[in-house]
Amino acid sequence: MQTAFLSLGTNLGDRLANMNAMLGSCEKLFVDKVRHSPLYETDPVGTSAEHMPYLNRIIAGEFDGIVADLLACCQSIEISLGRQQSEKGKVLPRQADIDILLFGNEIISDEILTVPHPAILGRRFCIEGIAAIDADIIHPIYLKTFRQLFTEMSQEIKRQKIFIVD
Ligand code: AMP
Repeated sequence: MQTAFLSLGTNLGDRLANMNAMLGSCEKLFVDKVRHSPLYETDPVGTSAEHMPYLNRIIAGEFDGIVADLLACCQSIEISLGRQQSEKGKVLPRQADIDILLFGNEIISDEILTVPHPAILGRRFCIEGIAAIDADIIHPIYLKTFRQLFTEMSQEIKRQKIFIVD
């Protein structure tokens, strides 16, 4: 059993309905109750400025399986919500985007998976969202708690706009 932290995101279609559907499906993947961050609205990072803002939420739960199983489950939820395959190198708006941010203390880097997710430290909502769930969780590579990572967030990351929706 491992504690997994996932990032849920949507910036296409009925974003609230997509988010609630993702949350409902993800809750079924985990043993016991899922913990979640507030719901955030965030400006897209690293994509065209014309893209709609994202709704994002971080969730955490106990997963009884290996990380490859969790990835397969996340991808099938994305597809069930109408997610199209992005062209290589081009980030399209998406109904559903689920990233595995942390999987216990595992460090994985292969063709299919990079865990911890390399974007965590570049996205304010990921740092804030993980810290909101459990600020004492330690990033297995940087060996710092998310409380520390939150405190040490650079000005550049702090400039990313995020609004708490609920
Ligand atoms: P994206 O378009 O951002 O959803 O990326 C999807 C691709 O990223 C998939 O082909 C995954 O195999 C790969 N990937 C690598 N690391 C991760 C991760 N930590 N969580 C989810 N997808 C990942």
